[in-house]
Amino acid sequence: MIIGQNADIYIILKKMSYRIGSGVDFHQLVAGRDLWIGGVKIPHDKGALGHSDADVLLHAVCDAVLGALALGDIGVHFPDTDMAYKNIDSKILLKKCFDLVSAKGYRIINIDSTLCLQAPKIKPYIFQMQQTIASIVELTTGDVSIKATTTEQLGFVGREEGLVAYATVLLTLK
Ligand SMILES: [Zn+2]
Repeated sequence: MIIGQNADIYIILKKMSYRIGSGVDFHQLVAGRDLWIGGVKIPHDKGALGHSDADVLLHAVCDAVLGALALGDIGVHFPDTDMAYKNIDSKILLKKCFDLVSAKGYRIINIDSTLCLQAPKIKPYIFQMQQTIASIVELTTGDVSIKATTTEQLGFVGREEGLVAYATVLLTLK
């Protein structure tokens, strides 16, 4: 039983409850596919290969959100064997993950993410990606950080065979 001052402290601690999550995603880059990153279609001679639209950044954010809730990963919720998710717009998947956040009584405080790709330059598209993600998860662009780096020509990213995204999210009780 929690009584008196302890009860007040308990309530304060409960209200300050935070949960953090991290996500990472990889996709191959191949000819003949569109390149979707952060919900934005980017002109390029290659696109990401995958069952859905293969949006590496949105998938990393989905996994970070699911991780913060300890609800498994994107493959559990949206299996690549399910034709319902064939070529699906990953913005829909992120919305479904965000709905789980709300249903559990949480909201997102902020998102930080990093994209690793050699080409094309994505700086011109970053603000549009921030706007897209922010609108889905009810944040402002100032709460959605998207950084980008090459790997200095090293490895599969450097050889433009694939791309990687990492994301971290912080949740708090509503
Ligand atoms: Zn993915």
